[in-house]
Amino acid sequence: MSLSLFENSIEYLKGVGPKRGEILRKELNICNFGDLLMYFPFRYIDKSRFFKISDIINDTAYVQLKGKITNIQFVGQKRGRRMTAWLSDDSGSIELVWFKGFKWLKDRFDPNTEYLVFGKPSIFKNSFNIAHPEIEEMAEYEESLGESLQAVYPSTEKLKSVGLGSKGILKIMRNLAKQCQGIIIENLPADTLKKYRLINRETALINIHFPKDQHLLKKAQARLKFEELFLIQIRLLNQKTYRQQKIPGHVFSSVGKYFHEFFHKFLPFDLTDAQKKVTKEIRADLGSGKQMNRLLQGDVGSGKTLVAILSMLIALDNNFQASFMAPTEILAQQHFETFRKFLGEMNISFALLTGSTPKAERKILYEELKEGKLQILIGTHALIEESVQFKNLGLVVIDEQHRFGVAQRAKLWKKNQTPPHVLVMTATPIPRTLAMTVYGDLDVSKIDELPPGRKSIKTYHYYDSARLKLFGFLKKEIKAGRQVYIVYPLIQESKKLELKDLMDGYESIVREFPAPEYAVSIVHGQMKAADKDFEMQRFLNKETQIMVATTVIEVGVDVPNASVMVIENAERFGLSQLHQLRGRVGRGADQSYCILMTGHKLSNEARIRLETMVRTTDGFEIAEVDLKLRGPGEIEGTRQSGILNLRIADLIKDENILRQARKHALEKIQDDPGLNKTINHALSIHLKQINKNKTNWGLIS
Ligand code: ADP
Ligand code: MG
Repeated sequence: MSLSLFENSIEYLKGVGPKRGEILRKELNICNFGDLLMYFPFRYIDKSRFFKISDIINDTAYVQLKGKITNIQFVGQKRGRRMTAWLSDDSGSIELVWFKGFKWLKDRFDPNTEYLVFGKPSIFKNSFNIAHPEIEEMAEYEESLGESLQAVYPSTEKLKSVGLGSKGILKIMRNLAKQCQGIIIENLPADTLKKYRLINRETALINIHFPKDQHLLKKAQARLKFEELFLIQIRLLNQKTYRQQKIPGHVFSSVGKYFHEFFHKFLPFDLTDAQKKVTKEIRADLGSGKQMNRLLQGDVGSGKTLVAILSMLIALDNNFQASFMAPTEILAQQHFETFRKFLGEMNISFALLTGSTPKAERKILYEELKEGKLQILIGTHALIEESVQFKNLGLVVIDEQHRFGVAQRAKLWKKNQTPPHVLVMTATPIPRTLAMTVYGDLDVSKIDELPPGRKSIKTYHYYDSARLKLFGFLKKEIKAGRQVYIVYPLIQESKKLELKDLMDGYESIVREFPAPEYAVSIVHGQMKAADKDFEMQRFLNKETQIMVATTVIEVGVDVPNASVMVIENAERFGLSQLHQLRGRVGRGADQSYCILMTGHKLSNEARIRLETMVRTTDGFEIAEVDLKLRGPGEIEGTRQSGILNLRIADLIKDENILRQARKHALEKIQDDPGLNKTINHALSIHLKQINKNKTNWGLIS
């Protein structure tokens, strides 16, 4: 069967061989013919266009030249040794330079042959040269399939060293394309092609590598982007259906005494409508007999913790245990305090387990957990260690999910025959397009409302030169009884430098805000947990008015009386971090402020971040900007998901295609859940093929 051609090992392709094959495998994970065919260009050059050497006037763009190569020379010693040559056409000459890999190049050029040279000019000593150009004989080049646009492929140093730069890849791609004509099978259903006016797969794949013209290139791109996003969506939805049908969940049939007692006796405020809505959604899941996998999104301060507590009480009402996982020790501690505050007077047993829980205490805890005496366990990832055995864990709440890897979450599954319900909470707003892809198989609940009485935080950007003004403002706020955070960036590469910045800052603050009128706390990553807690506690008790800290206070810390957040070197923080930090204030009824301090020299990107923060407090808007600035690969929580190694689609630019693909995938799955209908036959086969080759990532999120 013709399929097998695509499964041929890559070294058997004409022009590859064992050595190049090995490198293709290692560098690009291209193992067979099919993998190479799916290795797409990242841009195209207009092949009909050649530059004259005399037309090169700047060093910004790649150019394609043709001419003769002469005057090969070797200059410099040892490490500085390089090979140079001159390329000449009828308009002038330009120098070509190689710093390595020239041993096998030096005899390659024949002075009477015309070559095509492709590369990026750079300025060196007032004239242009091209370092490590890609070179091809004109005759060879003219043999090509006649495409007017030429594909440019991403490559690596290792690949280039075996002649597989962009042009080299193009050459083997050409060999592959010749063999593929006529045997590339369609994998999308006919009705899909018709509905979205997509060209067939073979035409698309040939034209993505060898575009006949602009129009066909566009069609090829559109088709392959749709295919990529559609297949992801189909797989996510399949996964979800599978989970819903095949994986049983504990049935929490009743809402009982714990819930009601808390609700009527201990809940200190009314729930917001948004909290009510998501609690209902969670309750429905918990009673459904299917395992819940729900993502709870809500901005900082929107009251997610309370929703978690209510959900956990439902577990308890049904004689199950519940656990609450936080990403850091300080947060676990704080959540423990929150539980104490809310549930302390109820007849519920709960405990805290972190890395620093003493052995003796731990032992008792393990036993009580196993016997079911302990109903709620709060902690860090110490919770998922092998030694922690629950009697009947019914619900796991994971706070700030992005700090937990997929593998860690998977461990939860192994603990029980019937997996616990999982509620993942995040304050990092996820842009819609990402949510559709990364969390496409989770159900999503959203708290889109803050508790009443909160005033929107006012945000300002000050330059360092306005420091006196800042100090004056802080004094005024402190005089009015408020408290202030001053945060310094965490510099991972240099803990020493970080501490120095912080200590310098601390000293100047103490000078400006002297005792006994003022008291200043300091908290940083190198302090012992007990010392941190001590300082936190002093701040909470209003014994100190200013908290100088690194980003250890980033998530979760709750001091309602704090009304000013000053962020030093704000240009060094990412948008989502700035947003998280700002969320530390504005938790009480007072007007709160966030002040972003920076120097005068700012990159464009930093400027956009600062402007965005000043303009809006909407976490979702901020997330969208963040996505645009950094690209999806950089957004926390997506990298490890591995879903976003997209070959051709772009989650920002192709949002519309993504929407169509998702909508259509939903229609398909609804109409034909098993994809058994004849029209979906090719799609079904293709999916089986992918699943055979890939690990089953969808199951474990
Ligand atoms: P999140 O975890 O979403 O950042 P929290 O659960 O920590 O938010 O809630 C922030 C603050 O708002 C807490 O002090 C909490 O007690 C309070 N809070 C939560 N829900 C309400 C509500 N419905 N009304 C008033 N205050 C609330
Ligand atoms: Mg929280």
